[in-house]
Amino acid sequence: GTPVCECNACYSGPDCSQFIADCVLGAEGGNPYFLEPFWRQNAENSAVTVPGWHRMGHEYDDGSLISKQLEKIIRNLHIVVGNAVTDGKYIVFGVGSTQLLNAAVHALSADDSSSTPTKVVAAAPYYPFKFDGDTTPWINNSSPSMNFIEIVTTPSNPDGQLTKAVIHGTNVKHIHDLAYYWPQYTAIPSALDEDLMIFTLSKVTGHAGSRFGWAIIKDKVIYERIVNYVEQTTYGVSRETQLRTLKLLNVVLEGNGRRLFEFGNDTMSFRWEILSTIFSASKRFSLQDRNAEICTFSKDARAPTPAYAWIRCENEEDEDCRTVLIGEANIIGRTGYDFGSKRRYVRLSLVSSQDDFDLLRLHLEGLLFLERRTNLISKGGDEI
Ligand code: PMP
Repeated sequence: GTPVCECNACYSGPDCSQFIADCVLGAEGGNPYFLEPFWRQNAENSAVTVPGWHRMGHEYDDGSLISKQLEKIIRNLHIVVGNAVTDGKYIVFGVGSTQLLNAAVHALSADDSSSTPTKVVAAAPYYPFKFDGDTTPWINNSSPSMNFIEIVTTPSNPDGQLTKAVIHGTNVKHIHDLAYYWPQYTAIPSALDEDLMIFTLSKVTGHAGSRFGWAIIKDKVIYERIVNYVEQTTYGVSRETQLRTLKLLNVVLEGNGRRLFEFGNDTMSFRWEILSTIFSASKRFSLQDRNAEICTFSKDARAPTPAYAWIRCENEEDEDCRTVLIGEANIIGRTGYDFGSKRRYVRLSLVSSQDDFDLLRLHLEGLLFLERRTNLISKGGDEI
């Protein structure tokens, strides 16, 4: 029979061609479907077939849980992109970067001999994790009797800014979450050389559902603790996932190793041009600043093209920006409150599929049209 078509929320009918003008558009997630066209173009060389008898055991031939071939290609990837120094460092795989963030917190807390538990903090607005709050209260007085782990997400989720650690001292350790430190989203000013850096396949190739992440670790003791955590929780990362990741990254590195990044960056740049044009007409809503930086990958100065729009409602009465966008534009975003910030902010995903982005654009254009119309009316009907 005819395949059943799964339409997105704004279309209906047997072939998803009937547009529903007042549909509600979900823009709260973060699945990077914008990279799907690249993988459609590379469908054959990125495909994996696994016969039933293939690699049934837990360990690789050398007894480890980590494919050495995959580790090597990840080191190459960082050399091509120039975003992280891996020389002389250890690499561990995890079930997404989520597992590695937990493993890293565990590893860095382990030698905490003080009576108070280590506080895990990040500078707001931050990617939600099990935090004990914002870094601000501790910037100048991180009491030496207390131990801290600061998670530094750069570029930041939600607002895409390149950030640096804000608290320092012998009682402070840092975890660098570099999920978005790829040319799709930001300039790459330099190869980062931090003690503990975490990356995820989710944002580089877009394969969030494969659940693959990796940590680059300088210190041997911390490395061993992270390996131990991964062994105790999941006994490594699925071998199908490692095989698929290997296949995908091989395609990424084909030729000069730049095709995926150029496709991703072109797509995101185009989306940001559209968004900036729409919002430049607004006094009621503003977007985050995007300042150009020198990029060692593209060898020019470029503005960031973040994965999310971080919108601020400027009118005093629009205290809850998420509710404003639902009520007036049928767009569901994620409230700033979830990121340790104010409800006056809302985050919208820009990494969705082309269809979803086109709809987001239509909805936002409608919202800005309403704003202009309201302004004209309030200036006196004569001007219309
Ligand atoms: N860190 C950041 C900053 C993220 O935005 C995300 C996903 N949205 C993650 C970590 C977790 O990603 P995953 O577990 O899919 O690797």
